[in-house]
Amino acid sequence: MTSLIDSFGREITYIRVSVTDKCDLRCDYCSPAKGVHPNGKYTEYLTAEEISRICSAFVRLGVKRIRFTGGEPLLRKDLTEIVSMINQDNDNLDLSLSTNATRLERYAKPLYQAGIRRLNISLDTLNADEFNRITRGGNLNKVLTGIYQAKKIGFDPIKINTVMMRGVNDDQMENLIDWSAKYGLELRFIEIMPIGKSGIDSMNKHIPMQEMLERVEKHLGEKLIPSISRQGGGPAKYYRTEKKHLGIGVISAVSQHFCATCNRVRLTSRGTLALCLGQEHSIDLRQPIRDGISDNELEAMIVKSMELKPERHFFNENRKNIEFRQMVSLGG
Ligand code: SAM
Repeated sequence: MTSLIDSFGREITYIRVSVTDKCDLRCDYCSPAKGVHPNGKYTEYLTAEEISRICSAFVRLGVKRIRFTGGEPLLRKDLTEIVSMINQDNDNLDLSLSTNATRLERYAKPLYQAGIRRLNISLDTLNADEFNRITRGGNLNKVLTGIYQAKKIGFDPIKINTVMMRGVNDDQMENLIDWSAKYGLELRFIEIMPIGKSGIDSMNKHIPMQEMLERVEKHLGEKLIPSISRQGGGPAKYYRTEKKHLGIGVISAVSQHFCATCNRVRLTSRGTLALCLGQEHSIDLRQPIRDGISDNELEAMIVKSMELKPERHFFNENRKNIEFRQMVSLGG
């Protein structure tokens, strides 16, 4: 079997699939308040069959993990159909979902039945007013109800991803640690990244990973120990405490990039295969598919695209080329 190896010897085994670039929240560090929010014509988006066909091609090329993301993936009405299709066509896949959980109460069960087992939920605060402010109108209660329902159904793990920002939600750090421990959720603190104008404008609130870890230690009253067994191919670094048996993850894309072990590419809802979160290198798969290319030709295009994957992002050195990229399109 051909596998996907890029020019720097990294094997690509993971694809993040954005099924829509629309979102029902407008987090102020992610989306502009109004205007320039993606709103494509129906035909601009990949169909369920097209997404499934591309994912199956990736699986034949050695990809084992597929994460559905967005925009908000639960806004896409045929999401469970997409997941089922991919799950039925391929064996032993690790299927996961990133969501803001506003619609999770309703969709948790069908998604579990379709084959999703792991969930990442974005939640920046447990304070309802602060949540409403950050998301520009979101309802915290709906999110919490969705999370508790997902726990009941049996998703495992459920990871809570919190973008930690100084003066915005860092008052919630300790609260989030205690709440996650109480409900058996895996908490990960994420450094704000300079992606899109909203992200770049929020960089003055950036909190480096080291500072977050020191605060966690202070709160728990124990030293954090790197959790070697948990350091997978992903960007998070995991830590645990000896006495309280608590774990925490940190994603530090800015203060310490992890590009050397990057194992992933991203498919946007309009069919662009993006080879790096922080750089433009990409190819279009939608038009060739609609022009009728064969499965073999599709696989060959994907293999060839690996030559374009850049060595690393340049978040700190050059923000110009990521000013107009949007997290809602790239899927995080
Ligand atoms: N709607 C889904 C969700 O909320 O998880 C998936 C898409 S959302 C764009 C994915 C993740 O990107 C969220 O956890 C969000 O907090 C994060 N994100 C958006 N802009 C960011 C930025 N500038 N820096 C760091 N994380 C960001």
